[in-house]
Amino acid sequence: MLEVNNVELKYGDFTAVQNLSFTIKPGEIFGLLGTNGAGKTTTFRVIMGLLEPSKGEVLYFDKHVGYHNVDEIGYMIEERSLLTKLTVKELLLFFGQLKNMEKELIIKRLDYWLEHFGITEYKNKKIKELSKGNQQKIQFISAIINDPKLLVLDEPFSGLDPINMSQFIEVIRTFQEQGKMIVFSSHQLDHVESFCEKIVVLEKGEAIIEGDINQVKKDFEKLTINIKADVDIDVLENLDGVYKVIKNTNKVIVKIESDKYIDGVFDYVKTCENVTLFDVEQASLSEIFVAKVGGKREKV
Ligand code: ATP
Repeated sequence: MLEVNNVELKYGDFTAVQNLSFTIKPGEIFGLLGTNGAGKTTTFRVIMGLLEPSKGEVLYFDKHVGYHNVDEIGYMIEERSLLTKLTVKELLLFFGQLKNMEKELIIKRLDYWLEHFGITEYKNKKIKELSKGNQQKIQFISAIINDPKLLVLDEPFSGLDPINMSQFIEVIRTFQEQGKMIVFSSHQLDHVESFCEKIVVLEKGEAIIEGDINQVKKDFEKLTINIKADVDIDVLENLDGVYKVIKNTNKVIVKIESDKYIDGVFDYVKTCENVTLFDVEQASLSEIFVAKVGGKREKV
């Protein structure tokens, strides 16, 4: 289990993370979300023991993380930090040996993952000759080569096309089934909704949303109704509990304060012609984020 307890991290006088707490249990995928500069990478550096918190502590199975845990943890950092003049094989031998692995095991696992990601032909190619997406795969392989119990992934999906992204997600899900702990960061809030159950959303170093995604959405009461029908926008806008109506090219989106106003909207839509859609959905994480930070940021 990984426990982050009331962590505060300062760079000089600047507080990058404050009062941050969360727990990750074996078999959990945890999302550390937030816009650029929110404090995600800083949090990871604290988790990895690279930065010492000014307050609080991080415990990995009840003990402080240190170099002695290196062979149980995999860390994929945000920047592409690969030694680009090395070949894929040389690079993985380097990283694997840093994690106290035997050469034979490194090569065996490397061959497995290269084949899994369909890039076996790059084994003896220099990193700099690989495309960005393939470099990212190598970075990912270097984080998982030691079959870690705790996998820390800083923005693993940024810049990936949907096929590569789903390949990464499939591997991460397999790791989850094996009981590993996975924590990843992302600045794309809605991107991860279907992917992890527990989240923290950071804003300026503080957690503004946290917990089980479904519970977060439930607690946020506001709902969206998608409608396809010949409706009168003015009438919709004046119904009880409706706070926003958006007309798209092919549907009307009605925002309501809570589920008690669904019936009122439904009663009106029933009186309209050509009704083909009436669909109620929970708010997205982006909407919840905007509401929590006071609508200062319109787009996340
Ligand atoms: P991004 O999504 O852009 O990577 P992030 O959420 O990972 O952002 P951090 O990199 O943790 O954010 O940065 C949090 C804050 O701390 C930012 O305001 C950043 O400018 C500041 N910061 C990060 N590293 C340092 C440092 N070494 N010295 C001083 N300030 C820093």
